[in-house]
Amino acid sequence: MKGNCGKLLRIDLSSSNFSIEDISISLYRQYIGGMGLATYYLNKEMTGKENPLDKENKIIIAVGPLTGTIAPTSSRFGIFTKSPLTNGYLESYCGGDFGKEVKKCGFDVIIIEGKSKESTLIEINNDSVKFDHNKNLIGLKSSEIKEYFKSNYTGWSNLYVGPAGERNSKISGVFSEGRCAGRGGAGAVFGSKSLKGIVIKGDKRVDVYNKEEFMKDVNETLRELRSSKAVSHLKDVGTGNIIDIMNFFESLPNRNFQNKCSKEINNFLPQNLKKAWKKSVACFNCPIACSKIYEFEYEGMKIELDGPEYETIWSLGINLDIYDLKTVAKANYICDEYGIDTISTGNIIGFIMELYEKGMIDSKHIDGVVPEWGSSEALIALTKLIASGKGFGMEMNNGVKYLSSIFEGSKAFAMHVKGMELPAFHPSGNYGISLGYAISNRGGCHLHGAVLSELFGGADRKKHNNKVNMLLKNIGLINVINSSILCYFVSNGIGLKEISKMIKSCTGIDYKDPSEFEEIGLRINKLCMDFNKKCGYSKEYDKLPLRSFDLGTNKDILSNMIEEYHEFMMNVK
Ligand code: SF4
Repeated sequence: MKGNCGKLLRIDLSSSNFSIEDISISLYRQYIGGMGLATYYLNKEMTGKENPLDKENKIIIAVGPLTGTIAPTSSRFGIFTKSPLTNGYLESYCGGDFGKEVKKCGFDVIIIEGKSKESTLIEINNDSVKFDHNKNLIGLKSSEIKEYFKSNYTGWSNLYVGPAGERNSKISGVFSEGRCAGRGGAGAVFGSKSLKGIVIKGDKRVDVYNKEEFMKDVNETLRELRSSKAVSHLKDVGTGNIIDIMNFFESLPNRNFQNKCSKEINNFLPQNLKKAWKKSVACFNCPIACSKIYEFEYEGMKIELDGPEYETIWSLGINLDIYDLKTVAKANYICDEYGIDTISTGNIIGFIMELYEKGMIDSKHIDGVVPEWGSSEALIALTKLIASGKGFGMEMNNGVKYLSSIFEGSKAFAMHVKGMELPAFHPSGNYGISLGYAISNRGGCHLHGAVLSELFGGADRKKHNNKVNMLLKNIGLINVINSSILCYFVSNGIGLKEISKMIKSCTGIDYKDPSEFEEIGLRINKLCMDFNKKCGYSKEYDKLPLRSFDLGTNKDILSNMIEEYHEFMMNVK
């Protein structure tokens, strides 16, 4: 087999055993790899009734045919599991070079099941798997465990959870080399299995089917990426390059989505962000290098932070009426140290600030913090409270949906879909975004079909015509990207034409043309929907928070769009 490895590594934490299984070629034909394969195994091996934090839940780590090759942005891997935040399908992707090492060990999929009695670090070295129960790793924060890996695992790649994951925080992520598979609580699933992390090193070659053809296809892709304006903005400023555009188009939420833009974004304008960055860094084999390093002092230490990126500048800044980059960076750093998702954290703090504004919470509930809009002190104090899980911080770790169930009258401004807090694009009045959020399989998320192009002149954002069709095309493309696996940001410069060529010359599998890939992408979407159905989800859960309808999205129009989407998906095989 070329491009793919054809092997699955199964690790049982309960018995400290592992086995290696073959993956049938027909599965690659049907699902490509990465997201497609992982979602196939989730459906095959889980009933959907499992408690996400019980040993029956599984963690699937997957790479794709392009992982570890010379294709641009080919370092990524995905984590797939049942989410403790949404109780449904969870996929989350991460850069760094962990994915490349999985491939160099000879695996496309790693399935982790069971639960260890003691905190465990898994060591994967080619075909060998060891279980290290070093108690000294318990409770280590990101900076501490990174030091440990640096001293003890030079030349290995790693992923790990912070203290928040260990105590099963539903907003905790999985971290790898300064990057994060942040959303939906995958960190808690690691924690529930007493899995602190994985170190991995392989020395197998990643072979492709037709080297010459593949090189040609990769070069064509690189040419397209280099000629894309959107990619060059990403390279230049990072993901924050769109802040002014989002604000101009009234799509940048402020004060927990009460407003759709803000007057004070000057510090976050692209030209000012560019001046603030110390340098750029890139994942393995990425010509885009969207990550920007920001340097600042915190509690007497000099910190070099990878970020804050667009979503975090919004969630821990603009959303809370905070416009100071250093303050946002400090909160970002605390989240990273403890291992929690910045988007959910910012949403939770925004929700608390609105509760306080409406007189629905007293500061004595929250350790004496006065959560007023714009308060940097409140941001840092609440971030620490959530990150440490102390006092009411423990409750806040359960997310906005849970909090809205304990504060009567707050559901109307609980900004989540299926339990996952919304990202940095205001849905109201933007029909392609509204639809994307509502139907997203992992909950409030802009990365799985939402028609972001409507915010960049690709369509009239206030009109609903043709948006279902655009969404379906996006889903097809993004699921192929996530199955191959490349970075989401390549979609700014290339499409199925380029990606399908690379997959074909890499694997030699006789996929037909780009339209077949679109079909595969939609088939994978159907698998995600099937998994959610097994978890108890139905069409009724595809809905937006009530506030979205006050500010511009017409409920009936959106309902019809959701109906049209489901009708289409019913016929996908
Ligand atoms: S674009 Fe950014 S996130 Fe994507 S692979 Fe490159 S550096 Fe990593």
